Amino acid sequence: MYSNEILSPTSLKEALAIKDQYVNDIFPLAGGTDVLVMVRNKLGVWGESPVLLNLNNIPKLNFILETDSNIEIGPLVTHTQLLESPIIQKHVPALIKAISIIGSPQIRNLGTLTGNVCRASPAADTLATLYARDTQVQIQTVNNSKLVPIKEFITGPGQINIPENGLVTKIVIPKLEGYFGDYISLRQRYALSIVVVSIAVEALLSKDRSRMDDIRISLGAVAPTIVRATKTEILLKSNAFTKNLIEKAEKMIIEESRPITDIRSNKRYRKAMTGVLLGRILREILSH
Ligand SMILES: Cc1cc2nc3c(=O)[nH]c(=O)nc-3n(C[C@H](O)[C@H](O)[C@H](O)COP(=O)(O)OP(=O)(O)OC[C@H]3O[C@@H](n4cnc5c(N)ncnc54)[C@H](O)[C@@H]3O)c2cc1C
Repeated sequence: MYSNEILSPTSLKEALAIKDQYVNDIFPLAGGTDVLVMVRNKLGVWGESPVLLNLNNIPKLNFILETDSNIEIGPLVTHTQLLESPIIQKHVPALIKAISIIGSPQIRNLGTLTGNVCRASPAADTLATLYARDTQVQIQTVNNSKLVPIKEFITGPGQINIPENGLVTKIVIPKLEGYFGDYISLRQRYALSIVVVSIAVEALLSKDRSRMDDIRISLGAVAPTIVRATKTEILLKSNAFTKNLIEKAEKMIIEESRPITDIRSNKRYRKAMTGVLLGRILREILSH
């Protein structure tokens, strides 16, 4: 039995006023696929039956918008909605790939992108792509609204940088025209399992396809937060894009990654797999 009090405002203004009043004694509830597991198992602060701020009665928080330069996603948008969105399919294909293997259909029907971001797990499937895109998170309080880069928003495993009276009200993903985007994760099986190592790549080839004009590489589950493989990015941007360069990049990303050993895998395997997965994506780009 849950003994939590649940407040269900019907407007963002009301939700922000409640958060302002209760500050750290209330927790936002979107799809509940993370929150309710923690409440049920009485984990951490959730063991003290905190008040829940249910956002699901605010339909205005459910939107996917395309602007000239960005895709904007509201905090109630579920993984299933993203999978079915022509805007996301067209502009963020790597996110589609990441979301399609989250949990199970039931989890994807309830779980939201914002919940995945705010949970801040280094193994969360959406985060590698969001880091590769330099995504921004909009945080609102009763009298302020600001955009924060995702790498500043997530500060550690399960830790986010948000004022005690703040709510996330939008995820803003910049459009990248002409880029090739991909996401691969390794896990024990492709349903209801947690990432062992993951990689997202966003790459822009030069017109004659001889060089990388830009490349962003993010790694998941190899550090306390998602990390960008910046040395490998520089190597790939500074040289002709050849099979030989791919081999060098595979070695460099293995050197660059600093994973740990845990219950799901050991650091040697994780390190080796960063090279394998990067090589797989780069060869796919080279062959097109
Ligand atoms: C069986 C199972 C399988 C799973 N498989 C995967 C998987 O394969 N890959 C994966 O990445 N994840 C997985 N998850 C985790 C989870 O489903 C996702 O992280 C999901 O996206 C969370 O979204 P939610 O809307 O349910 O979040 P909630 O549970 O509602 O909230 C998650 C966190 O975000 C906070 N929050 C929510 N909205 C806001 C807001 N607007 N402002 C501030 N804070 C907010 C909550 O307070 C809470 O701390 C799985 C979970 C389960 C139970």
